[in-house]
Amino acid sequence: MSSVYVQTIGSVQDYVRDGLISTLSDLFQRQVKYLHTADYPLLAFEPKRNQYYARKIIETLMRDLRDDCEKMICVTDVDLCTPILTFVYGEAQLDGKIAVVSTNRLKQEFYSLPRNDRLLLQRLCKESLHELGHCYGLVHCSRKQCVMYFSNNILNIDNKQSHYCIKCHDFFMDRMRKEEHGQK
Ligand SMILES: [Zn+2]
Ligand SMILES: [Zn+2]
Repeated sequence: MSSVYVQTIGSVQDYVRDGLISTLSDLFQRQVKYLHTADYPLLAFEPKRNQYYARKIIETLMRDLRDDCEKMICVTDVDLCTPILTFVYGEAQLDGKIAVVSTNRLKQEFYSLPRNDRLLLQRLCKESLHELGHCYGLVHCSRKQCVMYFSNNILNIDNKQSHYCIKCHDFFMDRMRKEEHGQK
């Protein structure tokens, strides 16, 4: 049976990891497995920006995918970027297997506000569902409440709900069924 992997890189707190695994287990009807790496992928680091290229982290993870891996969400505490964007909350392979999200800018402390564990977990679950949605072929949704709405600031994330809209959900479920039967 195919599994969804949660891979953490660096320092990710236990309650964040466990909360995400529980959310994914409820929605995905798959076994959710956990892997941890303490080491940051040096190849993905850009010293001039003190950030990591999201795409290069994904490329690194591609090399060691397990046979039963249907999708993988990688959670890291480092700040992510792309060659053309100053930062990203996450990135995914559209119709692929791997997505990565960062907790860095999801933490209240990033905005000089008091730490809020519940809010961090909620934001992480939203961004993880968003990026994994891309892995299942979903594109951005025009509904501001939908978790597939494109977020480029933290208010957009907080304004979204923690799930797919009906249209995205139907698409997602259909694609999950196809993956399960190897039709994709
Ligand atoms: Zn997106
Ligand atoms: Zn939607």
